[in-house]
Amino acid sequence: MEKKPHAKQSWFRNIEKNLGFQNDIKWVNTILITLYHVLFIYWPYHYAFPVKWQTVVFAAIMYVASGFGVTGGAHRLWTHKSYKATLPLKLFMLMLYSSAGQNSLLNWVRDHRVHHKYSDTDADPHNANRGLFFSHIGWLMLKKNEAVIKRGKQIDMSDIENDPLLRFYEKYFQWFKLLFCYYLPTMINVWFWGEDWKTAVAWQCFLRYITTFHSELTVNSLAHAFGYKPYNKDLKPAENRFVATVALGEGWHNYHHAFPFDYKAAEHFDFFNFGTTFIRFFEKLGLAYNLREATPEMINSIAKRLGDGTPVHFPLDSENERAVG
Ligand SMILES: [Zn+2]
Ligand SMILES: [Zn+2]
Repeated sequence: MEKKPHAKQSWFRNIEKNLGFQNDIKWVNTILITLYHVLFIYWPYHYAFPVKWQTVVFAAIMYVASGFGVTGGAHRLWTHKSYKATLPLKLFMLMLYSSAGQNSLLNWVRDHRVHHKYSDTDADPHNANRGLFFSHIGWLMLKKNEAVIKRGKQIDMSDIENDPLLRFYEKYFQWFKLLFCYYLPTMINVWFWGEDWKTAVAWQCFLRYITTFHSELTVNSLAHAFGYKPYNKDLKPAENRFVATVALGEGWHNYHHAFPFDYKAAEHFDFFNFGTTFIRFFEKLGLAYNLREATPEMINSIAKRLGDGTPVHFPLDSENERAVG
């Protein structure tokens, strides 16, 4: 039977329009995200305790490891090409990225490149001008608007699309995600220290997964709403210590939008910038190379012209030798 051309725009669309939504709802995503959050309360409430200490420590390790897969891998390596990685490190990063259970790498990189190029405009997938809920998680529940789709198609993705390793990874991404985000992190608790599987699920699939997920999302929401703007006061992204702490150094977001090619995603070193610590560690091992940074001259000149007056180069040089050296 022939389908009506606008069959989709039925009563669903009318409800959405009446509620004032600018985009169609992705119902599957919305239901899954809601259900996951309901289970996030229900399952750990019933099964998180008693727990073996190893399970808690391993959940913390996985929080950092999966977070690093996103910040050090999808973000600083593949989106911004802020450093180069050897094959073993790329494989390791892909494993860590899978363990974060996010969108496919191709989508992640495209969305993020569009986000930088059209920050906080209609073409930004998580335009912060549409409010905290939208920029945090709402954008994952809605279909992209025309501007986002159009600009997304124009973004150069050839480096990702032509990389045979990433093509292979993309093809089997859902399997890698299932294995490294859910199955292995859960079963390691069961195999190695005899944790009850329900407790292991509570700590890995809910407590660790959901906290990593939200901490990464705060970069798009909170770091685009609250904080200082020492590098460019005309940008919405701001320096936000809370986000930097939970998102492994990704909250120095005014700096990052001013100098997206800098592998530190921050001017200063801070303890929680595990992204930077690990990239430097891998550089020492010879697995990461060509680390790119903004020079103090570039920082000074931009901060002087565009900053909000908050001092830069602080805390001073001893903690920050790489950035000023
Ligand atoms: Zn941003
Ligand atoms: Zn970025």
